[in-house]
Parts: sequence; C-alpha cells; structure tokens
Amino acid sequence: MPPKEVVRIEDDADRWRFLCPRGHRTWEPTNHHFWCQLCARRDDADGVFYELRDQKTDALLKRDRVQLLTDSGPYDHDLDGGAQ
Ligand SMILES: [Zn+2]
Repeated sequence: MPPKEVVRIEDDADRWRFLCPRGHRTWEPTNHHFWCQLCARRDDADGVFYELRDQKTDALLKRDRVQLLTDSGPYDHDLDGGAQ
C-alpha cells in the first residue's frame, strides 16, 4: 500500500488544494466519508461525498486513502492511526 495522503484540515494551503468533487472548499470530514456545505444546499445532492479531489494531481482520494490531521493530532483515531 502506498502511504496515505496527509491532509491538514485546519491548514489554509491544504484547504485550497483539496476540494469536494464539485470544487468547493467548504467540506468537512465525517466518519468514513466527507460532507460539503455548498453541495448540501443544492437540490440534487445531499452534500455527502466519498472522494476528495486533489487539485494538484487531479486525483480522487477515497476517505481511507487520506490521513486527516488537525492541530491536535489525527482526526480519526480508528482510521488514521494512533491506537493500533
Ligand atoms: Zn461541494
């Protein structure tokens, strides 16, 4: 397995780089997927999505392919390491 892509969700540079599939920066991680505030306002979407878009490489990253970090450590201990 290649290493996970690290996304610092409180870092401005990473917030500009990683976008929801429709190109918004208003996403938040949830358990095992993502949610986008702007997408949730659309009539044809509920805001939930499963692949984060990396603007730099144009890659789509599934939730289990990214490691989300906050200023105080991993966002999800079960998914992003720490306990195991
Ligand atoms: Zn969106």
